[in-house]
Amino acid sequence: MAIYNPSSLKAEEFINHEEILATIEYAEQNKNNVELIDEILEKARPVKSGNGCTCKGLTHREASVLLACEIPEKIQKMYEIAQEIKLAFYGNRIVMFAPLYLSNYCVNGCVYCPYHMKNKHIARKKLTQEEVRNEVIALQDMGHKRLAIEAGEDPVNNPIEYILECIKTIYSVNHKNGAIRRVNVNIAATTVENYRKLKEAGIGTYILFQETYHKESYLKLHPTGPKHDYDYHTEAMDRAMEGGIDDVGLGVLFGLELYKYEFAGLLMHAEHLEAVHGVGPHTISVPRIKHADDIDPNVFDNSIPDDMFEKIIACIRLAVPYTGMIISTRESQECRERVLKMGISQISGASRTSVGGYTEQERPHDSEQFDVSDQRTLDEVVRWLMENGHIPSFCTACYREGRTGDRFMSLCKNGQILNCCHPNALMTLTEYLVDYASEETKAIGFKMIEDELKKVPTEKVREIAMSNIRDIKASNRRDFRF
Ligand code: SAM
Repeated sequence: MAIYNPSSLKAEEFINHEEILATIEYAEQNKNNVELIDEILEKARPVKSGNGCTCKGLTHREASVLLACEIPEKIQKMYEIAQEIKLAFYGNRIVMFAPLYLSNYCVNGCVYCPYHMKNKHIARKKLTQEEVRNEVIALQDMGHKRLAIEAGEDPVNNPIEYILECIKTIYSVNHKNGAIRRVNVNIAATTVENYRKLKEAGIGTYILFQETYHKESYLKLHPTGPKHDYDYHTEAMDRAMEGGIDDVGLGVLFGLELYKYEFAGLLMHAEHLEAVHGVGPHTISVPRIKHADDIDPNVFDNSIPDDMFEKIIACIRLAVPYTGMIISTRESQECRERVLKMGISQISGASRTSVGGYTEQERPHDSEQFDVSDQRTLDEVVRWLMENGHIPSFCTACYREGRTGDRFMSLCKNGQILNCCHPNALMTLTEYLVDYASEETKAIGFKMIEDELKKVPTEKVREIAMSNIRDIKASNRRDFRF
């Protein structure tokens, strides 16, 4: 039997089955222990430090107690603290991105994914470089600056060289005032050498969803192909970091296994990265399983209702306050509205989950990975965010300024967020409004920018931001950043 050790590099030791079961039991025993729950809530609260704020975060055991707790007033408290953390570290900014599907060729047998090898009726497509260019132009013309590239695992059709070539093409396209300034990568677990190549290609975050932390289920859900290797998949982030990638993004596909198990596993993974590499995950994604070609989500009987989904997100926010949280268009507008407040810091907009989908007039379904619930245009999403008091941010400054890994944490601690992320969000929103927005969105946006500029504490920074915003409106000068 493997012994739990967060600093181990062996999957079964840092994601330890016995420790997860013990955590779930501990949480169950303490779910009405009001004294302990209050103590945990107090620990999670942000505290002032110098000009900024710090947070201690929670261990997987502490956070699991909160997740198990069903006392309405305590749940309310969790939500309040989640919102406090969100406001202290992320303000009302929401970073925007879009997925770009490069290829749906795949040699794996993942039973929940329509790209699985045995699916003979899904159209298989792989973008040529010309097609990548056209997709990028379509994305730039919507206003996107940040992409997450997605591809199935297929060493023959989608080798690392293909992925690298696509990244190069993406960064090379400048249509009108458009530019993709950050490419995040969601491709299958690979070697240290390949991660090093991705790093050299200038990627932002390397994202890989664990799907499920439950090994026995994992093996059944991934019956064939290289992804069947649970250990290789689970240890991927360590290889990515060894290859020099500072920012890694975790996630589980909720609905495959019991959420309490996944929740503990996810936080143990974050603790492991912190213990070994001195920095936790840059982001955590919270996808839920969706209907797709050849896939009926009802077959997976661990689906979670919206209320529980909201609670999971709030508890993650309390446990890992410095980790960004991502929600995709898998979720409906109503659901996204609820969870945005609880600590989500990044959302996708106007996504197409099919290969070549952005250059098609109509949303194509033949090569889609999953059904998209939120089908609004980017302009509609941006306007809706602002109407709900959020600032849509197209900022990509951090990693371009070398603020990767744990450096976001020091921004928070030094109280520099409002002098840095806030003006960056406002300047990139101005770019979006001037270059791509409808008149209605522009009107709401420019008013919001005027009001939000007042929150920049340092006069000098505020003046520079205002002058840059004037420049963006009056000329084609773009890409100002702090
Ligand atoms: N091929 C890469 C890999 O092996 O990890 C990842 C790319 S895949 C295009 C991105 C993610 O979509 C998967 O990790 C999975 O969690 C998610 N996904 C697959 N099928 C899904 C479905 N039916 N509903 C929702 N999400 C799904």
